[in-house]
Amino acid sequence: MHMLQDYVEKSMYIVFFGGAGVSTESGIPDFRSVDGLYNEKWKYPPEVMISRSFFKRQTEEFFDFYKAKLLYLDAQPNKAHLALAALEKAGKLKAVITQNIDGLHQKAGSENVLELHGSVWRNFCLKCKEVHPVSTVTDAAGVPICNCGGVIKPDIVLYEEQLDDDIMISAMDHIARADMLIIGGTSLAVYPAAGLLDVYKGQRLVLINKSATHMDMMADLVINDSIGDTLSCFV
Ligand code: ZN
Repeated sequence: MHMLQDYVEKSMYIVFFGGAGVSTESGIPDFRSVDGLYNEKWKYPPEVMISRSFFKRQTEEFFDFYKAKLLYLDAQPNKAHLALAALEKAGKLKAVITQNIDGLHQKAGSENVLELHGSVWRNFCLKCKEVHPVSTVTDAAGVPICNCGGVIKPDIVLYEEQLDDDIMISAMDHIARADMLIIGGTSLAVYPAAGLLDVYKGQRLVLINKSATHMDMMADLVINDSIGDTLSCFV
C-alpha cells in the first residue's frame, strides 16, 4: 500500500482503466463472474440478449432483460470511485477509462470519464435522434417509444456493435501520455483492454484485482485485494 502511495506521489499523469470489478463493490453484479449473469436462467445467454440483432428482432425481451439485469440506477459510488474523483481534483489523475455503463464515476465527481461501452443514463430515439432521460426507459411498460414513433435505445455498446472511435482514440492518447496506469477490477480478458495497454510506455503499471490476471507478470505492482479498500487511502 505504501508503494502505491509512493507511485501516486511521483506521478503527474495517472490514468485509470477499470472493469466490472469496480462496480461490484457498489452492488452491481459482474456479467462474467461465476455467480453473475451468465449462469442465470434466462432463455438465452446474455451475449445474445444484449446483442444488436436481438435488440432488433426481440426488442421487448431485450428491454425485459435490460431493465431487470443492467439497470442499477440506485447504486452509489464506492471508495474506489471516490478516490479516483479525489485524485482527479488533486490534478494527479487525468482520465478514467471504464468498461462500465453505470455512470458511478460521474456520480462520485469524476469529470474526464471515457465510457468505452456507453452509459445507461443516455438514451436516444433511433429515428429522430432525440435524447431521452433514463426515466423514459424505466417508465415504459414494454419498449420505450419516442413521440415520433421511433424506438428509444440506451446509448450502450451492444454485442455486435463497434466501440466509438473518438472515445477509443482519446483513451489511447491518455494511456500513451500516462506516467502511471492503474488497472482495476478487470481480468483484462475483455476486448479492448489488452490492445489499449499496448500503447502504455510509463514506468508504473499497477494492477488491482481480486484474483490474478495474465498481465500480472508485466506489472510493476500487483495488488490482489478489494479495489475500494486499496484506493481508500486516497479518498
Ligand atoms: Zn424520435
